[in-house]
Amino acid sequence: MKAEIIAVGSEMLTPDNIDTNSLYLTRRLWEAGCSVHLKTVVGDEPGEIVDALRAALDRSDFILVSGGLGPTEDDRTREAAARALGRRIRIDPHLLEALKRKFAARGFRMNKNNERQAEVIEGAEVLDNPFGTAPGMWLEERGRLLVLLPGPPRELESMFEASVVPKIGEAGAGERLVCRSLYVTGIPESELDARIAPLYTRYPRVQTTVLAGTRHIAVRLYRWVPAGEGAGDLDELAARIRAELGDTVFSTAGETMEEVIGRLLGGSGRTLAVAESCTAGMLGMQITRVAGSSAWFLGGVLCYSNPSKRDLCAVPEEVLRRYGAVSAETAEALARGVRRAFGSSIGLSITGIAGPGGGSEEKPVGLVHVGYSDGERTESLSRILPGDRESIRERSAALALSWLRRFLLRPGEDG
Ligand code: ATP
Ligand code: MG
Repeated sequence: MKAEIIAVGSEMLTPDNIDTNSLYLTRRLWEAGCSVHLKTVVGDEPGEIVDALRAALDRSDFILVSGGLGPTEDDRTREAAARALGRRIRIDPHLLEALKRKFAARGFRMNKNNERQAEVIEGAEVLDNPFGTAPGMWLEERGRLLVLLPGPPRELESMFEASVVPKIGEAGAGERLVCRSLYVTGIPESELDARIAPLYTRYPRVQTTVLAGTRHIAVRLYRWVPAGEGAGDLDELAARIRAELGDTVFSTAGETMEEVIGRLLGGSGRTLAVAESCTAGMLGMQITRVAGSSAWFLGGVLCYSNPSKRDLCAVPEEVLRRYGAVSAETAEALARGVRRAFGSSIGLSITGIAGPGGGSEEKPVGLVHVGYSDGERTESLSRILPGDRESIRERSAALALSWLRRFLLRPGEDG
């Protein structure tokens, strides 16, 4: 079944609000065996809602609409759907009574406006709304399904689970969507794609996406698998990609980098402390997302100033003066110093220029030095990272963790 989602609401055409209902609906539709092939966001303008609905009714088997079912003037979905279907709207006396009772139970008299929520499109099956007042509607037209759902996520989700899932259970039971994800770091997106394209193009039934983020690159493999069939070719392709990319693949089961680091540290009984200048806590925050991280993470210093680098992480005044706060020498001294300060097995540090100001020809915005020290050796790594201030900081933290992973994988060798 080809599904389409229409999110109604002018607020989602502003820079402040985003349609999240469709993410929820897409996940649940996939689980029910329906693929989503189109999404639309439309404002509260009735003519535009009608156009969106008509186009959807021409091309999709299953159309889900969210929002615009409430009692206010800007809630126009009901009326637009009636127009798109060429059907009449009438007040349902049972719904009206039920609405009045809902209001009375909360100690209110029902306002005239709210009567609109008892309006039902001809031929619609009414879907109960346990968490709100606006009911949903299930409509069928020329073999296509049109479902109107309320906008507030809690109302939409509970209505979807209670009233929609049971109805689509059978319609979509023929196929299921199977997905495999590989997370990769330490190689550029273009190189990654050049290396794996010859592999995945040989599997035309598998849809492959390569998505680069600030923290890692996600390679996702999807395939619709008919009932009774296995997803063997998906696993085969995942294994080939993994073999090609080697240990730049850090996760194949959705594990995050901080979980991988935690497993490697925890498994070897080693501990970590961090000294963060340009990321000022992002590294610590990320590491401690993992429950139980107190077993391997001892703490960190947000050494944003030169005196804090000197006094809290024992960076020699001479190093700061000679090489500057953003330098390989300072990164190494920070890693060494924070390791001693916390008595950890490993010290990890970050110092860099996140911008937008503060760059120079010699030290441009995006220049980052990461330091590592484990008592036997102390090293640093330099990169010039792209993006704005926030993404440079995110990439710096990701770089530090991905580099740390190399040391944890092969102790005693060069990373
Ligand atoms: P109400 O009875 O609350 O007016 P409604 O069905 O008319 O319900 P809207 O008025 O369109 O729904 O939206 C109500 C609120 O629900 C919005 O302010 C917004 O916070 C949230 N909402 C609406 N649509 C979405 C969406 N697609 N994704 C996430 N939140 C949404
Ligand atoms: Mg509303």
